Amino acid sequence: MSAYILEKLCLGCQRCVRACPQNSIHMVGHTAHVNPEQCIECEECVEVCMQGAITFREAEQNLQRLEKELDELRSRWPAHSVKPEMVNQQEELEEEIADLRKRLENN
Ligand code: SF4
Ligand code: SF4
Repeated sequence: MSAYILEKLCLGCQRCVRACPQNSIHMVGHTAHVNPEQCIECEECVEVCMQGAITFREAEQNLQRLEKELDELRSRWPAHSVKPEMVNQQEELEEEIADLRKRLENN
């Protein structure tokens, strides 16, 4: 497990980049990203992020990954060209997302 940036919340202030003793956070455009290989889980970045955009919670990380996957799926398949297997994939992703949201709410 390493620190993980929730991209939708990140404002790109770079406080976490400066705080990380491992230099394991870098900017991609206006969003911070963690190199999980270098992270030592010290949580310095979590302390300085005013946005609450950094998490160690697996459910939050999975939720963001699934939401991105779903967005990508939707953008690749305009409504008029949707195939049945894509609909199934979308439904599976939506179910997983709903399940993760529920788990996070109950935490
Ligand atoms: S401190 Fe938070 S808001 Fe600022 S760049 Fe890092 S993750 Fe983004
Ligand atoms: S937990 Fe520590 S080592 Fe890992 S990214 Fe944050 S500041 Fe860097």
